[in-house]
Order: sequence, then structure tokens, then C-alpha cells
Amino acid sequence: MSRFLHSKYESLTPYDTSGEVESMKGFIRLNTNESPFPPSPKVLAASYESSRGLNYYCDPECSQLAEKISSMFGLKPSQIVFGNGSDEILNFLFMGFCEKGAAFPSITYSFYKILAKFHDVDYIPVPLKKLKVDPSYYRNVKGRTIFIANPNSPTGIAMPLSEIEEIITSNPESLVVVDEAYVDFGAESAVKLIQEYGNVAVVRTFSKSRSLAGARLGWCMACEELSQDIRNIKNTLTPYNINAMTQAAGLAALEDEEYTRKNIDIIRMVRDNTRTRLQEMGFEVTESSTNFLFAKHKDISGEEIFNALKKYKIMVRHFTNPSAISDYNRITIGTPEQMQIFLEVLKGDIK
Ligand code: PMP
Repeated sequence: MSRFLHSKYESLTPYDTSGEVESMKGFIRLNTNESPFPPSPKVLAASYESSRGLNYYCDPECSQLAEKISSMFGLKPSQIVFGNGSDEILNFLFMGFCEKGAAFPSITYSFYKILAKFHDVDYIPVPLKKLKVDPSYYRNVKGRTIFIANPNSPTGIAMPLSEIEEIITSNPESLVVVDEAYVDFGAESAVKLIQEYGNVAVVRTFSKSRSLAGARLGWCMACEELSQDIRNIKNTLTPYNINAMTQAAGLAALEDEEYTRKNIDIIRMVRDNTRTRLQEMGFEVTESSTNFLFAKHKDISGEEIFNALKKYKIMVRHFTNPSAISDYNRITIGTPEQMQIFLEVLKGDIK
């Protein structure tokens, strides 16, 4: 640490990307929930074309993207705010909307805790019930901002919309953030609740179903008042947060819905087949509405399985914290060929 660093940043706990870096070295990467499919050819062409204009600053409002998304969801363009990945939106929300604290599941996307700590937000980890988010546990959060990933990660389990609505209506003093990173793989979106309730924000990403994790693009949808507040924070800190190539890529991805739909269908089919095969091998696997599976073996520890796969250059995600999930691994659904290799290696190893 240098002597110039502000003392409040002396003991940061950055997001652990070590496995992600490792998985780039010729591994089959089943650890970060990306799409195994490259972006559509139309996306590649559009980003190349847009690169010709890189001498100019990009559109800070991402107007074309906002227009497109608002028409997809029946909202106004002013209700959409873009982030450099949905992580940036989450950062804005923890930064600007958690004066009374935050509440989120004790087992969920680990970035929530990291952001809460960074912004000095007092947070409560709300326990899960049999690995599921239970709306009745969110009845007494006293105006804290509630973050719910639906479907949740790493469990993969989705909540019905009625339960999300229950959290929203039982907490009129709280902003409820519904993080829908994986919603396209089989859950019901809370977007339709935005017209009805002023205390809900829905966060989405292009990183999963739309094959654009490396482009960094996410967005938020909420009532106009909330969106304007988020936009103010964004325009104060990073007005040009979405570069021109990413804007063009995102727009082209939305316009090639057929490509996205086809890939989602393949991933869902491979996911369900893989789940059955894992169950046959003695794994307990949660019911996934995502592009990943969360699985533990009846006899072999999660760590052993993680290490065995790693020897064969297959990375999955193993969690040690909290210890309640240390017997599980989270397995991103890869291509059918990658999952075949994964299953063969696993079968060879747990005989
Ligand atoms: N929310 C959840 C639940 C996630 O799992 C992730 C991806 N790790 C994100 C948000 C962030 O995605 P991105 O910043 O790539 O949009």
C-alpha cells in the first residue's frame, strides 16, 4: 500500500476474479456463466462498422438502445439507464439508494456484499429456506433497499412473480431491486410491475443470453423518477460509460432476436440433459432456471470435484463462503460438446 492511499480504502475486498483469469489459459470455462456461443455475425459487423466513428465521443444516453429496449418492454426511453455491465448499475444503486441500509439473501451474487462494504452500507444477509428466497423473511427490513437476484445465483432457483410482488407490496418504504441477469433462461420478469409500483427497479445484462459479457453492457428499468436519479449519478461519474462499439453491438444483438432465441433453446436443452446425467451419477442438483447448474455429490466433496475437473482443464465455480454451500459447485452450461467432455471426465473420476 502506498502512503498516498486514502485510509478508508486500506482494507478493500475486491471481487475474486482469480478463477476467471485461470480459465482463459486453454480451459473449458464453466465457471463464470458466460454464453459459450460467440456474438451473432450481425453484432460483429455492427461493432466493426461503429469503430469507424471512434474519433468522436459516444452517445451518453445510448439513445438508439434506449429506444429499442423501451419499445420491447412498453416503457419510455427515459425509463432506461445503461451501465458498463449490470455491475455498474448495481454500483450506482448501492451508492445512491441505500441510506437506510440494504437487505439481500445470505446466499446470492457475491458482488452485493462487496458493494455494500465499499459504500459503507449497513446490510442484513437474509437466510434462504431450503436454498430458496422466502418473501416472508423480508417483512421487517425497515426501509432498507432489497436486492433480489431472480433467478438467484449460485442456486439457479427462480421465484414466481407473485412472490417478487409480495416483497414489493409488503415493503412500500423500500426500493426493491430485481436483478434479472439470468431471466431469459426461464423465469418471469418483474418488468410489468414497474408501471404499477414506484419502488421497483429491474436490472438486466447483455452478458448471458446475448453473448456479450466482454462488451460490458447492462441496463436498468424503473419509474421515471427513479431512472432520473440513477441517470444523474451516472452522468456525474461516468457520462460516456458505454463505448460506441458496445452500443452498436448491443443494438445489433437486440435486432437479431432469432440468434439469441436459438442459443437460449440449446442452453436450456443441454442444461436439462446435464442435470439428469448428474443426478444419475449421484449428484443433488437444484432446479435451475438459468444457464448454470448448482450441484453437490452425495459422497464426494465439492472441493475434490472442483480439483479433479481442474486437472482436466475444466473450470467450474467452487464456493467456500458461506460454508453451507461448500459441497456444491456451480457449473455453467457450455456447448453440447463441452458438456459431453465435462460429463465424461466426471464419470471417469467418480467411478
Ligand atoms: N447479477 C448477477 C446475479 C450476476 O451473476 C452477474 C454476473 N456475474 C451480474 C449481475 C453482473 O453481470 P454484468 O456486469 O456482466 O452485466
